[in-house]
Amino acid sequence: MRYDYLVVGAGLYGAVFAREAKEAGKKVLVIDKRPHIAGNVYSEKIEGINVHKYGAHIFHTNNTKVWEYVNRFAAFNRFTNSPIANYKGEIYSLPFNMYTFNKMWGVVTPEEAKAKIEEQKRAAGIEEPRNLEEQAISLAGKDIYEKLIKGYTEKQWGRPCSLLPAFIIKRLPVRLTYDNNYFNALYQGIPVGGYTSMVEKMLEGTEVRLETDYLEQKAGLDAMADKVIYTGSIDAYFNYALGALEYRSVRFETEILDLPNFQGNAAVNYTDADTPWTRIIEHKWFEFGKDSDGKEISKTVISREYSSEWKPGADPYYPVNDIKNSKLYQDYKILAEKEENVIFGGRLGEYKYYDMDAVVESALETAGKEFRV
Ligand code: UDP
Repeated sequence: MRYDYLVVGAGLYGAVFAREAKEAGKKVLVIDKRPHIAGNVYSEKIEGINVHKYGAHIFHTNNTKVWEYVNRFAAFNRFTNSPIANYKGEIYSLPFNMYTFNKMWGVVTPEEAKAKIEEQKRAAGIEEPRNLEEQAISLAGKDIYEKLIKGYTEKQWGRPCSLLPAFIIKRLPVRLTYDNNYFNALYQGIPVGGYTSMVEKMLEGTEVRLETDYLEQKAGLDAMADKVIYTGSIDAYFNYALGALEYRSVRFETEILDLPNFQGNAAVNYTDADTPWTRIIEHKWFEFGKDSDGKEISKTVISREYSSEWKPGADPYYPVNDIKNSKLYQDYKILAEKEENVIFGGRLGEYKYYDMDAVVESALETAGKEFRV
């Protein structure tokens, strides 16, 4: 049997591309080495709660086309991400906004907050931030850096903030308004029924083979299709020929608790250096504590998140886009461009700290190029 496209990886990138290919009349086979679809957005129902098995995912975008696209496959609820930080028992609002500054310094007006940040930035003597530490201090001041950024970031990335690229912290907004909405996005929400059912709908009518490891049987699988869409790790594709790219991995400890409310919020970040986990997710709050019939759920499911360096055999989550790795990726990219009939896409295929909306956008763009004659 021959296919027009073999899509390696049934995550968001692969599912969107496969959908577009199918709608363009192409014959598509999607494979994934895991026993389920949806990649890292996979959700699983436990005690009536959609549990984000590979970490919390909150869909947010400013791109109307992307928003309309995903809404074809799921209705979205009106969840707004407002994580809180727990620093040794002190609670702070995230992202950094007037509530945070008020709690940290007792300031009330934006002018006072701005002056405080300026004062701390000046005291640190930073003009042109060269790394995450300097960037963080110049954006939010030394106190916020020490209590809410340093410990969390060093746990998450396993590297000192002074050696991390500044751009990582630019993902986090700093606002002089009383606004706890983590994302500044026009559209935001969680797919009703969970991410897995959204991806299932994208893949409706497309052949999917699970527990199929592409790299283990590459030659045989390649022979089945004209073109390959590869969404796995780019360095693994080339058998680490130029050396291994670094990734951060995450381990989850998930527990069902016989109580209705553990922490009163979907996400609590533990921003001190001593607590071994980075954050605790209480999944029911992504759906307001209600099951699919709108009934209050009496139990709760929580996941403690531990960050670790990726090792072969573990799941890669975050590319480490520092200078060394970015350079190595560029070298892999040159090899990738020489691979005839293979398109590399997604967070792992492009070694890029992609959000979900950017993944969808990128898959649509690639599909657009492929299918527009
Ligand atoms: N961050 C932080 N304190 C927090 C939350 C985030 O210092 O309480 C920093 C940290 O360096 C992290 C970056 O902000 O890597 C981006 O966080 P985001 O929540 O966007 O990361 P995600 O988990 O969504 O990939």
